[in-house]
Amino acid sequence: MITLTAKLQAVRARIARAARQYGRDPGNVVLLAVSKTWSSACVREAAAAGQRAFGESYLQEGLAKMAELAALNLDWHFIGALQANKTRGVAENFDWVHSLDRLHVAERLSAQRPPSRRPLSVCLQVNISGEASKAGVSPADAPALARVVAGLPGLRLRGLMCVPAPSDDFLEQRHSFRRLRELAEQMQADGLPLDTLSMGMSHDLEAAIAEGATLVRVGSAIFGERQKV
Ligand SMILES: *Cc1c(COP(=O)(O)O)cnc(C)c1O
Repeated sequence: MITLTAKLQAVRARIARAARQYGRDPGNVVLLAVSKTWSSACVREAAAAGQRAFGESYLQEGLAKMAELAALNLDWHFIGALQANKTRGVAENFDWVHSLDRLHVAERLSAQRPPSRRPLSVCLQVNISGEASKAGVSPADAPALARVVAGLPGLRLRGLMCVPAPSDDFLEQRHSFRRLRELAEQMQADGLPLDTLSMGMSHDLEAAIAEGATLVRVGSAIFGERQKV
């Protein structure tokens, strides 16, 4: 059996190899371990192997793990669909949100962020493939949303995130990620202080790193295949 620690090391090696191949510093690509559906025991094992940042998609599940593992001082990133009735739990407990795509939700997160904590780091999720069923702000509407978010006191705008339509073709994968990078560059040129491109998952992290990802969100390659619910 391949241990979780070995799989984590293999993912780190993939990141380092891709970074070198595309002329990037491996230290500039953060690994977010997506632990949704996996137990706090699995998170504890990954933490013991040096992993700090964990991604969760479901609020109650994430809060339960945070409570159990509070002593480990991990970084928790919310990456799931974010309805307005979930914002308080996210604002009070998470360090990052990657899935912000609506002004109304942004305003609630900002108002509900406890003043005792540093502002919540947020990425705007962009629907880069234009899929009707997908979450995310359209590329055309992203700059206006970003400008408002950048002015909210409880939030710190960090960058853009995408989940492109799945593809097995490397060049097609790169094409989607390139569009997110170009959108971020355009927004930076317009004065928005973005330092994060959250893109790339288990099957396409190399293409994302080739196009400038600063954070890859990896679940199954570390923890195993999730049960389909
Ligand atoms: C589940 C999930 C991931 C991780 O996907 P894997 O294919 O298991 O690596 C990354 N990002 C988001 C938004 C997710 O929901």
